[in-house]
Amino acid sequence: MTHTRFLALFAALTMAACSQATPEQQIVNDAAEALGGADRIQAVKTFVVEGDGTQYNLGQDVTPEASGQTFAVTDARYAVDVAGGRTRFEFTRRPNFTYFQGPQAQRLVQGLDGVVAYNVAANGTATRAPEAVVTERRIGLYHHPITAVRAALDPMAKVSNAHTMDGQSMVDVTTADGISFMLAIDPTTKLPTRVTSRADNTNLGDVAMETRFADYQDAGGVQMPTRFTMRIDDFTTAEYRAAKQAVDGDTGDLAAPAETAKATPPPPPTVAVEELAPGIWYLAGGSHHSVLVEFADHMTLIEAPQNDARSLAVIARAREVRPEKPLTELVNSHHHFDHSGGIRAAIAEGLTIITHQGNVALFENMAKRPHTVVPDALAKSPQPAMIKGIGQDTTLSDSAMTMQLLPYAGPHTETMLMAYFPQQRILVEADVYNPGGQVFMFAGHLLEELKTRNLRIDRIVPLHAKPAPYAQFAKEASMPVPSTN
Ligand SMILES: [Zn+2]
Repeated sequence: MTHTRFLALFAALTMAACSQATPEQQIVNDAAEALGGADRIQAVKTFVVEGDGTQYNLGQDVTPEASGQTFAVTDARYAVDVAGGRTRFEFTRRPNFTYFQGPQAQRLVQGLDGVVAYNVAANGTATRAPEAVVTERRIGLYHHPITAVRAALDPMAKVSNAHTMDGQSMVDVTTADGISFMLAIDPTTKLPTRVTSRADNTNLGDVAMETRFADYQDAGGVQMPTRFTMRIDDFTTAEYRAAKQAVDGDTGDLAAPAETAKATPPPPPTVAVEELAPGIWYLAGGSHHSVLVEFADHMTLIEAPQNDARSLAVIARAREVRPEKPLTELVNSHHHFDHSGGIRAAIAEGLTIITHQGNVALFENMAKRPHTVVPDALAKSPQPAMIKGIGQDTTLSDSAMTMQLLPYAGPHTETMLMAYFPQQRILVEADVYNPGGQVFMFAGHLLEELKTRNLRIDRIVPLHAKPAPYAQFAKEASMPVPSTN
């Protein structure tokens, strides 16, 4: 062999080695081939999926374990501008349960335009969504075989960790724009079976956000799944069936509405303190309020809602009201995620949590879960969780204050605690009666409950609206309720 021929052979071998796909690339190439070929997938500009389905009510059902509350979804349309990073999901949904906004169908629009996420409400008002929603929708953009595989084929993407689990081939993908997910493909058909992403949930911390694909059909030379099952960890959050799909058809305008273009950073939480009676203060601000109670030697807070930002602000303000007395306890009204989003913050602040006994297991679990995607106060400053369950009417009383905690199984949730102050004739409740609303879906049930209990109440203090006289409550609670389906 001459020197020249040896070099030529060496070069050919090297090229062969270079063109040999890695196991990771092989999974992506197999998926692309199964979907219609890499060239076809990379050429896809847009797609539209139309159909119907079911949405579940994670974190908002009648008990922490329940999953029976659903919304029937119809006239759903999911349009994607693949290269432009734009998505728009429009759908009509109707609750199968007694929903606080009433039984009527709602038309919702959820959009993503690059790094702008927006919602259009039923009345047509468009609002820009917060950064957490942008993150969730940017992740969601890749929860479709076309976008996932197209992104994985991009030479700028990183593919790693090829492995087999439950008989499926899996690969980790980090897209050119920095979004990570795991792509799984079927060992036989090579079609994608699911995309899983690690995401943050305020209450649950690190979660696996997953979309499963099934029942592929041809649409314009591309294999498209017609069944989608979405999950957060083990909880199914939505199921959709596609009735009609189009690749490179007309998506309509996917640009964010002009009024959502300007970013306004969320205002810092404000806490307005109003004395309701000696030793009882209303800590108002935003959409979720709290109540502070003064005992002889300690202070008790009712409700740590929403998230760290809101709840840490409420706790800090509560400590200023009576700086000489320690704030030691938090009473939680119910498990719904918007009312328990500050439980971890309260634990981080050393408060003992008091809740309905039906919520204890959920809160103990919430206290333990890792929050590494978006570390919160408890992740940064771990504290032991002290959680007390209340299973029957319980009076907390000393020389300065008497507060009764009353378990209430109503149509909104079966694991609720109301706080009743017999001396001040005040009842504190969440979500069951919101004065100033359009419909009062649960107030009638509460009225019956209070009559049965024979409580003497002058004022209802709701954690979502301004305090109202009992007479106003009794009137609004007696208004006819639109029937559920
Ligand atoms: Zn609720």
